[in-house]
Amino acid sequence: RIAYVDGRYVPHAEAGVHIEDRGFQFADGVYEYFAVFGGKLADLEGHMERLWRSLSELRIDRPMSQQALVMVMHETIRRNRFRDGAVYLQVTRGVALRDHPIPNPAPRPTVVVTAKPVDFAAVEVRARKGIKVLTQPDIRWGRCDIKTVGLLPNCLAKTAAREAGAYEAWLVDELGFVTEGSSTNAWIVDADGVLRTRDTNANILRGVTRKTLITLAAEAGIEVSQRPFTVAEAKAAKEAFITAASTFVMPVVGIDEAIVGNGRPGPISERLRVLYVENARATAR
Ligand code: PLP
Repeated sequence: RIAYVDGRYVPHAEAGVHIEDRGFQFADGVYEYFAVFGGKLADLEGHMERLWRSLSELRIDRPMSQQALVMVMHETIRRNRFRDGAVYLQVTRGVALRDHPIPNPAPRPTVVVTAKPVDFAAVEVRARKGIKVLTQPDIRWGRCDIKTVGLLPNCLAKTAAREAGAYEAWLVDELGFVTEGSSTNAWIVDADGVLRTRDTNANILRGVTRKTLITLAAEAGIEVSQRPFTVAEAKAAKEAFITAASTFVMPVVGIDEAIVGNGRPGPISERLRVLYVENARATAR
């Protein structure tokens, strides 16, 4: 494998960044994760838009133009010789002697790009069966709209889920409402048959897959309501699913001890999965 680090393409096993990088010391950095179809990046515009917003919210300089960054990602895919997979892009503030305040003048941001093949057929097999989720308290900070590499609460929640035999954790606020998954957005088809997902004024990540799916669902004549739902509502829902660039639309068939619907992926979830994947393949660039 080949990685891009700070202007160079290097063997993955030998790739490294400086010990005083603020990404390493303070999680002072942001990332994006793209699905790759046929060597092309899925939902490219949405991910780039969010990357620039995350950087701007943290006052990290743009390391290069969008065109240059996309070129680097394409080149990293090419050097890793695969068609279907994923790209991970990380931008940290850069190297400075350890001190909490944001350094002034700003250091040069560190850019890392990795790319790997993914067995999408295996993802499809999982989707046909559906997954279980485990609810966990949402103990994250107040700026989950910024896609930072500070993911320890997410890692702990997902670990708890995996240890309980579930695939994803659903994070729950103090009022009992689901915010989102540890690395996915959360959705239900409620008792009235309305598609529900949390609004982006809440403390959640503005998922790119979520955004695209809202458009696709509306085009397909499926009503979408961006309104919070409780764990109890989710357990009583007709269908549930998660969305992310890694899993697309993944049906949820169990929440904690409860079975969702008849315990199999629901028809709306399956339809949306097909719509999303077909659109993502057709528009990848
Ligand atoms: N929510 C969180 C906390 C995430 O980390 C992610 C993806 O990494 C998502 C939602 C899904 O976002 P996207 O659809 O842009 O991949």
